[in-house]
Amino acid sequence: MSTIKEPSFRESVDLMFNRAVALMDLPPGLEEKIRVCNATYTVRFGVRLRGQIQTFTGYRSVHSEHMEPVKGGIRFAPGVNQDEVEALAALMTYKCALVDAPFGGSKGGLCIDPRDYDEHELELITRRFAYELAKRDLIHPSQNVPAPDMGTSEREMAWIADQYARMNTTDINAKACVTGKPLNAGGIAGRVEATGRGVQYALQEFFRHEEDKAKAGLSGTLDGKRVIVQGLGNVGYHAAKFLSEEDGCKIVGVIERDGGLLDENGLDIEDLRAWISKHDGVDGYPSGRYIKDGAKYLEEDCDILIPAALEGVINLSNAERIQAKLIIEAANGPITAGGDEILRKKGTVIIPDMYANAGGVTVSYFEWVKNLSHIRFGRMQRRQEEARHQLVVDQLEALSESMGKSWSLDPAFKEKYLKGAGELELVRSGLDDTMRTAYQDMREVWHGREDVTDLRTAAYLVSIGKVAGSYRAKGL
Ligand code: GLU
Repeated sequence: MSTIKEPSFRESVDLMFNRAVALMDLPPGLEEKIRVCNATYTVRFGVRLRGQIQTFTGYRSVHSEHMEPVKGGIRFAPGVNQDEVEALAALMTYKCALVDAPFGGSKGGLCIDPRDYDEHELELITRRFAYELAKRDLIHPSQNVPAPDMGTSEREMAWIADQYARMNTTDINAKACVTGKPLNAGGIAGRVEATGRGVQYALQEFFRHEEDKAKAGLSGTLDGKRVIVQGLGNVGYHAAKFLSEEDGCKIVGVIERDGGLLDENGLDIEDLRAWISKHDGVDGYPSGRYIKDGAKYLEEDCDILIPAALEGVINLSNAERIQAKLIIEAANGPITAGGDEILRKKGTVIIPDMYANAGGVTVSYFEWVKNLSHIRFGRMQRRQEEARHQLVVDQLEALSESMGKSWSLDPAFKEKYLKGAGELELVRSGLDDTMRTAYQDMREVWHGREDVTDLRTAAYLVSIGKVAGSYRAKGL
C-alpha cells in the first residue's frame, strides 16, 4: 500500500489535464481559463415527507460555457459533493469537445440514496430540485440541459421535463430542456442503451487497428475475448450484453455492490441481471465463484476490464496488481491520476472515460436536436428509401424471371435491403460514426507524436485544442 496521498477526484482530473497542456502551446492564461470550473451552485431545499420537512442538498456545476447550452447528467447518490460534480462537469466539457457535441460541460447531483424513498417521494424531491435549478436557468433548453446519470433514469428526466414545462408554459422548445426522457415524453430511440452501445462501438473501432491491439498485447477480433465488468447498471449491463451477444466476448467476471462473481465459462448477462434485480445483488447466483470483496476481481486476469461503476476504483492501492492489458473506462473517472501513472508505466492500454462513455451525451445531442426540430428522425425519408430499394429489387427479379429463374435474391438479403432506416437505426449509425471518428482523431495524436504515449493524453490534446479554438474564435 502506497503512503502517497491520493488526490481528490477534481484534482485527479486537473492533474491529467495539466499533463496534456504541458505538451501544448496555449496562449498565456488560456490554460487556466479552460481548467477552472466557471461556477457551482449549491442549493438546500426542504420537502415535506412522512409528516416532517426533510432538507436536501444539491449542486449544479458549470465548467465551461465556450459553447451553450452546457450539458451533463444529474446524479442521485449519498456521496455527491462539490468536488465530485466539478470533476464530472470538467469531464463533460472535454467529452463533448472530443465527440463534437456542441455543448459546454456541466454536471449536477443530489445527496440522496434513492433506495430510501418510494416513487412518489422521489417525484416530489426531483420536481422540487428541478424547480430550484430551472428558476436560475440551470435547466433551460438553450442554457443548461441535464440528463440521467448514476441513480437517475428516464423516469426522473420525465419529471424534470414536465416541471420545466409547467414553469414555462409558452416555451415551444420546453422538451429540449433535458435529455434521456422516455420515448413517450419526447425521448429518442436508443438513448437508454447509448452509453453501453458506445462502449461496444469504441472497442470495435479499437480492434480494427492492428497497431493498437499490439500495444495492448492483443490480437484477432473481439470474439472469445475474456472480459470483466464492474457494475451492471445501465452502462455496464448494456456494454456486457452487446459485447457478449453480438461480438462473441466472454464475460468471465462481474463485480457488483455486494460482491463479485467469476466464471471462466462466461456469465449469461440477461440471466444475471434478472437475478440481481430480484435478489438485490449477485450473492447466491447459481454459477460462478462469489467473493464478498468484489473489487479484488478487478485484479483478475482478463483481456478487457470495464470499470462501469464508480470513480476512483483503480488507484494507488491496487493499480500495480491489475492484470488486464486493456481497460476501457465506461464510468467517469474510475482510474485516479496516481493509478493512471502506475498503469501507464506497466504498459496497460487505457481507453479513457471522456471518449469511452461519450455515447450517452452523443445520443443526448441527437435527442436535443429532435426536440428542437419537433420531428422524429427518419419520418420524412424512411418510406421513400424503401420505395427506391423496392424498384431495384423489382428490376432484379424481372431480370431473374427473364433468365428462366436461374438465380434469385437471397430472402434474408432482400428483407434487410428493403427495410428503410427508422429512428433507432439512424441513432445507432450516428453514434457509430461519432465513436469511430473520435477514436481516429485520438489515435492520430497517439501514434503521430513522440511525446504522447497514451490515449488519455491524446484525448485531452484533441479536446483541449477544440475548446481553445472556440475561445479563440470568440475573441477571448
Ligand atoms: N451522464 C452522462 C455522462 O456522464 C450523460 C450526459 C448527457 O447525456 O448529457 O456522460
